[in-house]
Amino acid sequence: MINKKEVSERVFNPNQLSGFNEAHYIKLPVDFIHDLSKADSLEVVLNKIAFWISHVFNADRASITLQENEEYLKLYSISGNQAIPLDFKIPINQTFVGRTFATAKLMICDDVTQSDELDCQMLAQHGMGTCMDAPMIHNDICIGTLNVADRRKHHYSLQQAILLQCLANWIALNIKLHLQVQEMEVLASIDELTGTFNRRVFIQESNQTMSQFYKSNIPFSIGILDIDHFKTLNDCYGHKAGDHVLQMMSERIQKVLRTNDFLARIGGEEFAIILPACLSTEAVQVFKRIRTAIEMMQIHYDEHVICLTVSIGIAEVKMHDANVEGVFKRADKALYRAKKSGRNQIYLAD
Ligand code: GH3
Ligand code: MG
Ligand code: MG
Repeated sequence: MINKKEVSERVFNPNQLSGFNEAHYIKLPVDFIHDLSKADSLEVVLNKIAFWISHVFNADRASITLQENEEYLKLYSISGNQAIPLDFKIPINQTFVGRTFATAKLMICDDVTQSDELDCQMLAQHGMGTCMDAPMIHNDICIGTLNVADRRKHHYSLQQAILLQCLANWIALNIKLHLQVQEMEVLASIDELTGTFNRRVFIQESNQTMSQFYKSNIPFSIGILDIDHFKTLNDCYGHKAGDHVLQMMSERIQKVLRTNDFLARIGGEEFAIILPACLSTEAVQVFKRIRTAIEMMQIHYDEHVICLTVSIGIAEVKMHDANVEGVFKRADKALYRAKKSGRNQIYLAD
């Protein structure tokens, strides 16, 4: 398709490479199977696969790509030759591996030095002679590719193509399961409306921050923020407008925070923020910025321009705190005082 020069290329439909009789066996190292069953994250799975595939094929290079989006594959793991760097985004429509993915066919390029395609050229520049790429197919959908390369040209046999496709199909299921677990973990930790973390993750994170404090003695602060008169806002403009306000306000808060700060929606219109490595004096400054930023917002919804304020209670961890609930309770009491004193205020716990 893209190859302008005449390149020796062999293409196999995965169906041609499966469905043999019972006498057809493949041989795999026992540790490969054990490593895969022990792997507890997608990253470990991909690294183990790249390592063992290069071992099984005695390949100079082995790699795995997964689909990133409509246009690109992303290179996740490599064993051996680093011709194409990790995290490289591989365009699907200008590459040999992209064609493997798009056509869901196993393909062998017998001489990468003769190919015009980007990945083959990169392989050739790093001393590779041939490459074989297999589509990883799960439920008739190609999720990525499993690739091997060798310094020798015209190196791969039909037998090796059968083995690579067999492994690609088996590994596709394993990877898919890990991807699904990752997706579910994200879904279970994010508040759907605002995209911030939810209460469950806040509890986990605050406990973790407390454990860190016991080890390092580096103090942290927690702030609880509650929208003032939110019920009235809902009554005036409608519940959907209220939802929009919650989204806009979360985005605004996130802009004020540093990357390590942790924002969670812990109730209807109540948010908690953990400021790691932050004394209360500094925390007060951060929350002043947040309070002012929210007060300045003009949120357009339908024909309305909505303004809002928030009340905030802050507490810093103390040496005598037995657990993080103590810190949280002090911040909550401070919030109560902020409300009592007329709202749109920040109170720091004693
Ligand atoms: P205060 O200043 O004392 O905090 O008053 P308030 O009206 O903000 O507090 P109250 O607890 O009386 O009411 C909270 C309101 O928040 C009531 C509820 O309908 C609204 N709310 C809770 N969750 C959501 C949500 O997801 N979307 C919208 N639009 N409203 C919500
Ligand atoms: Mg409120
Ligand atoms: Mg409330």
